[in-house]
Amino acid sequence: MLFSETSLPSQILKAVADYGYQHLTPVQQQVLPAALAGKDLLVSAQTGSGKTAAFGLPIVARLSTNPQPHSSAAPQALILTPTRELAQQLATHITAFAAGSELRIVAVYGGANFRPQRQRLQQGVDVLVATPGRLFDHLSQDYLNLSQLQFLVLDEADRMLDLGFIKDIQRLQKWLPSKRQTMLFSATFPDSVRNLGQQLTQQALWVEL
Ligand code: AMP
Repeated sequence: MLFSETSLPSQILKAVADYGYQHLTPVQQQVLPAALAGKDLLVSAQTGSGKTAAFGLPIVARLSTNPQPHSSAAPQALILTPTRELAQQLATHITAFAAGSELRIVAVYGGANFRPQRQRLQQGVDVLVATPGRLFDHLSQDYLNLSQLQFLVLDEADRMLDLGFIKDIQRLQKWLPSKRQTMLFSATFPDSVRNLGQQLTQQALWVEL
């Protein structure tokens, strides 16, 4: 299937073409239409499968055709990922997909100064990419507002749990609005990931590749 055959808006199709993508990968073929339709998803997908575009394109498409008033430090999408490197990569990809839109994509992660991240968040953010520990540090200081969240993504959920982030993710739940779309991606689905997926999603579609 070609990207031009999907229902992505033309501005996103242009960004995708500029990025050099033509055909959807198998995970994109299964995830992209369901994500665009607003479904919760539990997806078993490996690194390198094209999962970033599978969740990133629908989020960018839905946010850029449905703009919200920009209040400060109130992201509309939150993407949790295990490491600083992944957070940086995800933010770079999603920024490229959002070319030509007004969406502000910000990454926060440990091992970098806290204060510039706080300033960046306070200037306004639509899509926040974060490692769970650092996200929690920002949340504890009361300026980050998750009440406008429409999308929650857990990327590499098994690695996040292996790194001990379960407590941060569970504590996060009290900040999350109940009406949201949640997508969880993991290479493996041990009971811990399955349980977390069930806690966070509603009537989720399982995608196994
Ligand atoms: P990911 O699994 O999202 O980290 O993607 C792995 C690599 O595949 C990245 O370098 C992407 O830019 C690339 N990629 C993802 N989707 C496509 C596609 N549909 N066509 C060509 N390359 C892709």
